[in-house]
Amino acid sequence: MTLLRIRNLSVDFATASGQFRAVDAMDVTVDPGEILAIVGESGSGKSVAMLALMGLLPWTATVTADEMSFDGQDLRAITPRTRRRIVGKDIAMIFQEPMSSLNPCFTVGFQIKEGLKKHLGLDRKARHARALELMEMVGIPDPARRLNAFPHQLSGGMSQRVMIAMAIACRPRLLIADEPTTALDVTIQAQILDLLTDLQAETGMALILITHDMGVVAETARRVSVQYAGQKVEDQPVGPLFETPHHPYTAALLAALPERATSRVLPTIPGVVPGQFDRPRGCLFAPRCAHADELCRTTPPPVQPPGMGLARCHYPLTEEGRG
Ligand code: SF4
Ligand code: MG
Repeated sequence: MTLLRIRNLSVDFATASGQFRAVDAMDVTVDPGEILAIVGESGSGKSVAMLALMGLLPWTATVTADEMSFDGQDLRAITPRTRRRIVGKDIAMIFQEPMSSLNPCFTVGFQIKEGLKKHLGLDRKARHARALELMEMVGIPDPARRLNAFPHQLSGGMSQRVMIAMAIACRPRLLIADEPTTALDVTIQAQILDLLTDLQAETGMALILITHDMGVVAETARRVSVQYAGQKVEDQPVGPLFETPHHPYTAALLAALPERATSRVLPTIPGVVPGQFDRPRGCLFAPRCAHADELCRTTPPPVQPPGMGLARCHYPLTEEGRG
C-alpha cells in the first residue's frame, strides 16, 4: 500500500501584486520504506509542497489537492488537532539550518524529551532512557554529557544530528529531510547522508530527501522526482535517470555534476526559474532549453510516459534519441 499520496497539489500565495503559483499540479507518491529524492533549483516549489503537507504554510497560502492522504487517511479532511498528532509523530521533518530550528534557550536533552512527552506520553525515566538511545543512534559521542549541552555548544554537524534524533524520536513512518546537508562542510555532508540512509534501513521508515544536488541523489535515493517551476517534469528510478534522463532539465542538472563535466569549468544552466511575471505560455523550461522550438514556446507539453519514466516534455530523450 502507498504510504503517502499527493495528487494535483497546487499552492498559491496572495502577494501585493497578485496571486503567485508556487506549486503547480504536483504529484508525489511514496511507498513504505522507500527513499524518494525531490530535486530542483531553489524556487522550484519543493519545500513549499512539503510545508503544505505538514500544514505549516502561512495564511497567505491557498492549498488545493485532489488527494492528500497518509496511510489511507485523508489529510484534507482531518481536524487541526489530528493533524498535529500525525505531523511530528508519523511524519517528521528536518530542515537545512539546524541552528535556527533548535531553541537556544534549552538544553538538547530538554528539547528531545519534549517531543517524547508530547507525542508518546513517556514518563521521566523512560524519556531519559529513550533520549540517550536516540543520541547513540545518531552517532553523538558521550551522549549523557551532551544531553546537558546547549545548542551553541555544538558544531553544525552535531546540531544536525540532534535535529535528526528529535525527528526520529517518535519512530516516524516518513521522514522529510529538506536540504539537510546544504549548510554543512563537505565531509560532514557525507556523514549525515550516511546516517540518514543507515537510519532508514534500520527503522524501515520512508525518506523524502529534498535537494538541489544530483550528487546527493546518486548516493542516497532509489527514485527521483525532478521539479521545475512548481511542476514535476520527470520521475524515474535513480539508475535509469542517470542513464537516460528524459527531460532536458534533468540532463542539464546531471551535466553540472563535477564528475560528469567535460571541461574544468562546470556547466551551469543559463537563466533562472521563471517567477510570477515571466511565466512562459508553453513549456516553462523553454527559455532555458537548448531544444526549444515553436511548439515548446506556445503549447505546454503533456506528461509523457516514455518507457518506465515520466517526462513533461514535447521531445523527451529516450534510448532511441530525442523526439
Ligand atoms: Fe525543452 Fe521543448 Fe521539452 Fe520544454 S518541451 S523541455 S522546451 S524540448
Ligand atoms: Mg527549499
